[in-house]
Amino acid sequence: MKTIAGKTWLGKPDEINPKILEWQKQFSDIVTLDVEKQFSEDLVYAITVTAPTNTQKKNFMVTVPHAHEPAGTAAAMNYLNEIITGRTLDGTATKLPREEILDKIRLTFIPLANPFGRKKSPVDWWDGSKYSNEEFGYIMKGRLLNNPPLGIVGEFWHYHPIFNQATDRLENIGIVWEKLSDSFYGEPHFYKGCAWWKIVEKLTSKFYYDLYIELHQGMEEWQDMDTLVIHPREHWIPEVAIEYADKVEAKILENWKKVGASPHPGDKDYYQRAGKGWLPDLDMPSERFKMSGDWLSIKYGTPQLTIEVQNNNQQTDAEKQLLYQQAAIEACVAMLI
Ligand SMILES: [Zn+2]
Repeated sequence: MKTIAGKTWLGKPDEINPKILEWQKQFSDIVTLDVEKQFSEDLVYAITVTAPTNTQKKNFMVTVPHAHEPAGTAAAMNYLNEIITGRTLDGTATKLPREEILDKIRLTFIPLANPFGRKKSPVDWWDGSKYSNEEFGYIMKGRLLNNPPLGIVGEFWHYHPIFNQATDRLENIGIVWEKLSDSFYGEPHFYKGCAWWKIVEKLTSKFYYDLYIELHQGMEEWQDMDTLVIHPREHWIPEVAIEYADKVEAKILENWKKVGASPHPGDKDYYQRAGKGWLPDLDMPSERFKMSGDWLSIKYGTPQLTIEVQNNNQQTDAEKQLLYQQAAIEACVAMLI
């Protein structure tokens, strides 16, 4: 499949929202929508898909928190189209066991948790052909007053899950942020006041998902590897959730190799190491800052993994980004069947 913006690659709200409404209209027996409105009036959709059968279902949730990481959105939309309609977005008949999946699994996808940010993206995807990683970084995070180097902006980003523009006065607000009020901005991945958390919390307390994954992108500078799967192992994550996530991780790595990706072999200490740099909570200096998925393990026992596919690097073009994200989704569903 050749990736084409607006056809096989749906990433912006004005591309994905009409498709979501079309699914609901044409397949109302299997599709249910939940919606959360951002302060900006942009709509965040959660699409839940399952056959109306009485089988004991496994519940699976996929979300895409970040505005500057569109490949997860494109893959979520393509995968959903296959399961809902039986065809990929380019019209090819699906090879997936669609009926078995619909019978055994309830899938909830939030393909775009921050449409406010995504709307402002200057490109449909980031493949390294138009922007250097430094330019990309400033578009994503923003610029601070007097324009300090990108590393400083990165520190600001990690230490400010929420900031007040009236006092913090960023020169430019990057696309990663969600606008929460006239002057407050939040990070969808870190701050629970964002639309992401509101809609995830509502659905999780209803379905108690058996597996949760977040589709992210990063590793812009990597040369030999293009994919990474990680999950936290700290004391606040239930042991049984860690063990299940380990199995899912192995399956995702296997699937990536099958489709030609070059994954990182595994990074068991990723979160703990990352925590050394991110300690914004002075009451809990020994813990790293908890990210969105952690709360699902803590509150609901849900095993959770973070999927990372390379962004803004010419070795991983849009077509590969889409393929690798979808391969990760397919590995999870194969585990649950
Ligand atoms: Zn991300």
